[in-house]
Amino acid sequence: MRFSGFKIIREGLSGHKGWDATWRDATPKSHYDHIIIGGGGHGLATAYYLARRYGKANIAVVEKGWLGGGNVGRNTTIIRSNYLLDGNEPFYELSLKLWEGLEQDLNYNAMISQRGILNLFHTDAQRDAYIRRGNAMLLNGADADLLTTDQIKNRYPFLNTKDARFPIKGGLAQHRGGTVRHDAVAWGYARAASLLGVDIIQNCEVTGLDIKNNKCVGVITTRGPIKGGKIACCVAGSSSRVMAMAGMRLPIESHVLQAFVSEGLKPLIPGVITFGAGHFYCSQSDKGGLVFGGDIDGYNSYAQRGNLPIVEDVCEGGMAILPNLGRLRLLRMWGGIMDMSMDGSPIIDKTPIENLYFNGGWCYGGFKATPASGLCYAHLLATDTPHETATAYRFDRFEKGLMIDEKGQGNQPNLH
Ligand SMILES: Cc1cc2nc3c(=O)[nH]c(=O)nc-3n(C[C@H](O)[C@H](O)[C@H](O)COP(=O)(O)OP(=O)(O)OC[C@H]3O[C@@H](n4cnc5c(N)ncnc54)[C@H](O)[C@@H]3O)c2cc1C
Repeated sequence: MRFSGFKIIREGLSGHKGWDATWRDATPKSHYDHIIIGGGGHGLATAYYLARRYGKANIAVVEKGWLGGGNVGRNTTIIRSNYLLDGNEPFYELSLKLWEGLEQDLNYNAMISQRGILNLFHTDAQRDAYIRRGNAMLLNGADADLLTTDQIKNRYPFLNTKDARFPIKGGLAQHRGGTVRHDAVAWGYARAASLLGVDIIQNCEVTGLDIKNNKCVGVITTRGPIKGGKIACCVAGSSSRVMAMAGMRLPIESHVLQAFVSEGLKPLIPGVITFGAGHFYCSQSDKGGLVFGGDIDGYNSYAQRGNLPIVEDVCEGGMAILPNLGRLRLLRMWGGIMDMSMDGSPIIDKTPIENLYFNGGWCYGGFKATPASGLCYAHLLATDTPHETATAYRFDRFEKGLMIDEKGQGNQPNLH
């Protein structure tokens, strides 16, 4: 069933009885050619591109909970491709291009809104760093625009550009960046993959990997064992736990990241804004709530909830650039488990165990990567070679010292 304006009118006139379920609720079969562990954005996108672009069949996505219950439905919905390093920028620009055509590709309204992202800077040194970043973006075919304080004042009159504690000296804008309705991304990929024959199996936790003679031949799940040709781990914050089932220790730590939504306001913030003298980012949802977040909690955790000191820290960051938010009430807050890698960049690679593949280490920037991650992981699974934009995302970069350290923080996962 295709969604269209015509279909909506017809259903509206006939009592809405003709809508199908968004995806088939599949019962596990005994064998699949490809088993993807994790029904988050990346797992579902991988299944979709495997079927759609690489013509593969007999694919299952096994998810321990419900679709959208992980980070794909917990993030602050920001997409952008404003990276500096060659290992990253072409990959994230590919992702942004895929976002731009995603709704037509999936035939699903994911509310993709290229309302722009603005990174504010507050010092001369920061201006230099942002100019360098903007030039790297332009060289890689992305868009970047250095804005003066006057230009910022025109678009964001509520920002305190002069007598604030951290005066704003300008900003780097990416006008093609923006936001996407995050759970619609999970539903859209699930629906499109299911229509191509992918089995989506919820409430099916992988509790063991069936490994014989260094070859992975299946998974043990709470709904029974399933044999598989290729097994692809894609579980974000649970990466270390699942790969421990294969006896692997990863260069990844899990940390909690919180997000916040305020009560609804009239339109105030036109795009995404980030504060440059602390960690705070904010946009306004279509319902009017301000959606914002900041730093991770900074300690290792598998809990999907955080603690109060970070709430204070994030709100302080917000107040520094938007003092008019002081009396705003918070409606909701929650946490997600972030797979923080040693250099802040992801891994999409084969493992030393035959037929076992790994995708993870997305830190707190994996939502924007969803389409490219799915495409590149599908490419790896289908061809056993890395996609041209993901050649740097290998395990052996940590052995060889070829880090992709955007922030220059070194091997401190909590600081990336
Ligand atoms: C508060 C917050 C804000 C964020 N903001 C942004 C942002 O603005 N922009 C951005 O780009 N990124 C952001 N991120 C990061 C982004 O959401 C993640 O990097 C990305 O969603 C991770 O990929 P995923 O969607 O596949 O993960 P998930 O949705 O977490 O998918 C992994 C799935 O694996 C399942 N799973 C785990 N263990 C097993 C098992 N044993 N068996 C079967 N299934 C299993 C989980 O249940 C889960 O559904 C944010 C994250 C958080 C928490």
